[in-house]
Amino acid sequence: MKIRIDKILSLDDGEHRFHYAVPGRELGIDLKDFEGHEIFDQDVVTDVVLNKSGHTYYVKFKVASQAHLLCDRCLDEVRREISGEFSIVFAESRSRSDNEETDVRSIDTRNTNEIVLDKDVIDTLMLAMPSKSLCREDCKGLCPECGTNWNESLCRHYDEIVNEKI
Ligand SMILES: [Zn+2]
Ligand SMILES: [Zn+2]
Repeated sequence: MKIRIDKILSLDDGEHRFHYAVPGRELGIDLKDFEGHEIFDQDVVTDVVLNKSGHTYYVKFKVASQAHLLCDRCLDEVRREISGEFSIVFAESRSRSDNEETDVRSIDTRNTNEIVLDKDVIDTLMLAMPSKSLCREDCKGLCPECGTNWNESLCRHYDEIVNEKI
């Protein structure tokens, strides 16, 4: 519970902003590349805007982190910003939302004085993960025969393999 808005009952109606910077590991993200390196090895930065209106809490957040990824072709490290946004409404009783995009959750303010967003933040990051990552658009990749990184030098297999593909 790292991304937690405390004492929500004593907040005034209106807009409140919160900022969190938590290393991915502390947030409980256990996502590694196949070399065993943590993908979210830097701070996960979350900016939350909470609008309170009585016992209804409109929460919107933006999350971003510099992920450590591997190039799909040459396995070099690729740093890429992964970012996403999400909105949730916490209401005293589950009511239909006029905006289908927004998740509405019930909150029992007689028993709860906090809103915890860890899981939503993690889910939002996971959804924002790219399906592929390249160190650069024209990455030549590794030689399947000898493993030479073709971005650095071309081995004797290069012509043969590349011509075969065409
Ligand atoms: Zn590459
Ligand atoms: Zn080769």
